[in-house]
Amino acid sequence: MSEHHHDHLNATHTHDGKPIQNDEPPSIEAESLETAVRELLMEKGVITADELRGAIETQEQRRPELGAKIIARAWVDEDFKQKLLSHGDMAVRSFGVDMKPTELCVVENTEEVHNLVVCTLCSCYPRAILGIPPAWYKRRDYRSRAVREPRSVLSEFGTIISEDRQVRVHDSNADLRYLVLPRRPPGTDDWSEEDLTELITRDSMIGVSEAITPGE
Ligand code: FE
Repeated sequence: MSEHHHDHLNATHTHDGKPIQNDEPPSIEAESLETAVRELLMEKGVITADELRGAIETQEQRRPELGAKIIARAWVDEDFKQKLLSHGDMAVRSFGVDMKPTELCVVENTEEVHNLVVCTLCSCYPRAILGIPPAWYKRRDYRSRAVREPRSVLSEFGTIISEDRQVRVHDSNADLRYLVLPRRPPGTDDWSEEDLTELITRDSMIGVSEAITPGE
């Protein structure tokens, strides 16, 4: 699979300055492998078709909007924010999110620090909160370059982090998922929690962008 992925990347790497943002369909190999594993698991009685359907249904109901609700709550409720930063898994339970068996670590963007999330090994992602990861998140070039040259990757997403802010890259894994708490945009002091959710994008919770500043 990795060999194929690599060839595929080379073929589409056109050096147009935005190689990471291309969305690509899964490879034929990946789809055949998925079908083979799924059929084997059912044949051996490890999972039933109904259990699989239920799991997919739960997964598909997860949308970045759920993450936006969690972040908006943190922006307006300092106690919730502290709980989210110290005990992420427990804090999100009040939003119906069960992170098990993984742990959730929420990292806060500040005047001094900008956080970026990646999984260098594969594609670990806070799916229980954000749903299915974008295609670029799984790409080899994002996974390697996010660590090596995060500022350059961020600039390709249109995100320029000033030199006086540190960029911290967080490598997710099978046990630990990261979620970025973006900075609350200026000029939103009198905004309701519900209105604030409109400013919180999926990308801002991965850290490739900031939350939307109204009027920009
Ligand atoms: Fe992974």
